[in-house]
Amino acid sequence: MDARESSTMSLGMKRPLKGTLMDESKLYLGIDYGGNTVKLGLIDYYGNLSGKASIPTGDLTSKVACRAFAAEVGEFVHGMGVYTSELGGIGLAVPGIKMKDGFMTPNVKADWPLVLQSLERTFYKVNLTTINDSNAAALGEMWMGAGENAHTELFVTIGTGIGAGLIVQGSVIEGSHGSAGEVGHITVVPGGRECMCGRKGCVERYASARGIVQTFREAGESGKYDTAMFSEHEPQGESDTLAVFEAYREGDPRAIEAIDVMCDKLGFALAHVACVVDPDVIILGGGVASGADCFVDKLRDSFKSYCFPSCSATEFKTASLSNDAGIYGAARYAIISAPRDKAQRDWLDPDFGL
Ligand SMILES: [Zn+2]
Repeated sequence: MDARESSTMSLGMKRPLKGTLMDESKLYLGIDYGGNTVKLGLIDYYGNLSGKASIPTGDLTSKVACRAFAAEVGEFVHGMGVYTSELGGIGLAVPGIKMKDGFMTPNVKADWPLVLQSLERTFYKVNLTTINDSNAAALGEMWMGAGENAHTELFVTIGTGIGAGLIVQGSVIEGSHGSAGEVGHITVVPGGRECMCGRKGCVERYASARGIVQTFREAGESGKYDTAMFSEHEPQGESDTLAVFEAYREGDPRAIEAIDVMCDKLGFALAHVACVVDPDVIILGGGVASGADCFVDKLRDSFKSYCFPSCSATEFKTASLSNDAGIYGAARYAIISAPRDKAQRDWLDPDFGL
């Protein structure tokens, strides 16, 4: 199965697959490969987590390093008392763009073909699938988290940047260039702040942690507010939104402006995404979502003011699986990507796209 086929494969959410006794009795390994740690989770067909672990992210550019990594993953699985033959599949979530001929992962050093080869050696004959990490988090939340019962979900990660995973009527959407869901780079201010992508005015320059802190500081330097109204909370670094949220709770006008700008720009961008995919739910994750009590109502109002009227009922929720969303999503992707025999395929109805 190539990446394109697997990317459009239906999930069959909340629906037992008749005749898939083999799948149901097995465990699935979710690997969430992050910039600092690699999270591992063994999860069964129904979403029960048997065990999890994390190992530090290393430099996987040599054969030796890749084999050592695969061996560590193997130790985790076998250390849980699980034989390779008991694994139904492995899902690997990668932090970057999944392309037809490989991956573009600027924040980690890894020779992905070599990593996959090493995992295949360690887990002989186990089906191995790959998924973008934002899509994995979206899938995890939809399976066992805040997106339960949704059919179309947009999962937005708000951290130092803004990423998103997109599931439309049960299918993970990756796009022709692996760039579906690049919500953070929707232009909301033509000619605005410079973005790392080389363009100007992207929403993440206003609504990510860095964007929020920048607005806070610019508001403080603008001279338009009485400094006596400023709180004592000052961001310590470019991404310290905790200080901005504390300042907001104390009525600091700099923080109010930062949150207003964030909600206006993000609501504008999300309203336009909704015009295209019409989600049941928009789930907010990432570090900035921990301050959702300060902004979620304003964000919803902003969204409603810009969106097509029939999309105004779109729910906004915060992620509930925290750091485990990626391992759940990667495991789930392994489940839905697992090869099925003809009898299983025949049973599935055409609406599920298999
Ligand atoms: Zn950009």
